[in-house]
Amino acid sequence: MKKIVMKFGGTSVGTGENIRRVAELVTQNAKKGDKVAVVVSALAGVTNKLLEVACQAKRSDEKLIEKFTKELLQKHKEAVADAVTSKQLQKEVNQIIEETIAELEKVLTGICYVGELTPKSKDYVVSFGERLSAPIVWGAIKDFKFETQCFTGKDAGIVTDSNFGDADPLMNFTTHLVRERLGPLMEKGVIPVVTGFIAANQDGIVTTVGRGGSDYTATILGVALKVDEVWICTDVDGIMTTDPKIVLTAKMLPQLSYQEAAEMAIFGAKAMHPRALGPVSKENIPVRIRNAFHPENPGTLITKEPNSNSKEVVKAVAMIKDVAMINVSGATMVGAPGSYAKVFDVLGKNNINVMMISTAVSEANISMIIKRGLLGRAISNLEIALLERGGLVSEVTAEDDVAVIAVMGAYMKGTLGLASRIFAIVAKKGINIRMIAQGSSELNISFVVKEKDGVAVVKAIHEEFNLDKA
Ligand code: ASP
Ligand code: MG
Repeated sequence: MKKIVMKFGGTSVGTGENIRRVAELVTQNAKKGDKVAVVVSALAGVTNKLLEVACQAKRSDEKLIEKFTKELLQKHKEAVADAVTSKQLQKEVNQIIEETIAELEKVLTGICYVGELTPKSKDYVVSFGERLSAPIVWGAIKDFKFETQCFTGKDAGIVTDSNFGDADPLMNFTTHLVRERLGPLMEKGVIPVVTGFIAANQDGIVTTVGRGGSDYTATILGVALKVDEVWICTDVDGIMTTDPKIVLTAKMLPQLSYQEAAEMAIFGAKAMHPRALGPVSKENIPVRIRNAFHPENPGTLITKEPNSNSKEVVKAVAMIKDVAMINVSGATMVGAPGSYAKVFDVLGKNNINVMMISTAVSEANISMIIKRGLLGRAISNLEIALLERGGLVSEVTAEDDVAVIAVMGAYMKGTLGLASRIFAIVAKKGINIRMIAQGSSELNISFVVKEKDGVAVVKAIHEEFNLDKA
């Protein structure tokens, strides 16, 4: 008998049929005697749509709101019809959905009249995605004749700071409340279904924990409830050695350390919310990434130690596209304290995230990688702020046709000759490296090439380190 938090992402609950399969998986485990708590995302695409409409509502278009809420109602009712067989239960779930959408319509109309969308109201609007999906999952589980109860993240007891749109939990308080509210129910065999992504601050105002945040909800609950495992059930079999669209023979990785998985989550393995592993790694609670529709597949297990049986040095290679490189140079930056700070200050104040940096000890040049879509704004702000006459910086240039290649693995740390091996493969392909960075964690080496060369580099590295034979 195990205690498990099972999280289902947007595609796992994308249709009524899928929701039914989710309920089946949950109840199968419950039948075995496992104590299960379920976390659900919004139906696929709903969060994006809510954000879009909220932003448009600000420009006052009541007709659009009406059209949107009608479509949303239709979408969810269709899902209910496929997920739940009992007519009585269908009616119950539909009623919750109707009431919730009526509330959403009022909120959007309010935004429309006020003509303003604050981070607080934005969080309130996006919270409706999960508030609509969770009751359907609840209904489907009930349909299988299991006892279940639906909670919002707030009602479950997740309390966060007030950083709307990207909040973090107050873990001690949360643990106390979650244990009090969900613990006894689970002991009795009731299956709590909790909305992912949404929580509340100490004043009870709805917050969200960042895009893709249902993973985070799952690990927060996992820690609070001291579970044996947190399952992130998704539409892939686990974390792969690379994107199988690039290398057909890419393999699933059976085991990773928290640190390795965190690196990979950040580098676009699209497996997880980047902060989700924080709470579980402290408490040493294993996380399993697995396919919701292939439960026979054990997926990728994430634990404290990297897999001790496998001593492969390199475990995965990823390509991050849609990035751009900015070079800031100027002879007067040399030996001038605060010059880098000034560059980052400009970007930070303009809300531009820097993904990677590299600079030589000559200090005359600093290169940075940012999201490609932010390039225009980054360059213009840097130019305005830094290029004054006699200033620190003499030139700001950019390249928007680059990609980052990240090579990762826990045992890369301290392995001699690895960088030379990686760069030799790239050189052998006749491909030029534009920028290099290795954090002192030594868990990954990242470098930048022209985007058109990216696929060839990933393939060559995958082959060189025999990742398909791992
Ligand atoms: N629905 C939220 C999002 O799309 C949270 C999640 O899916 O994990 O970001
Ligand atoms: Mg999602």
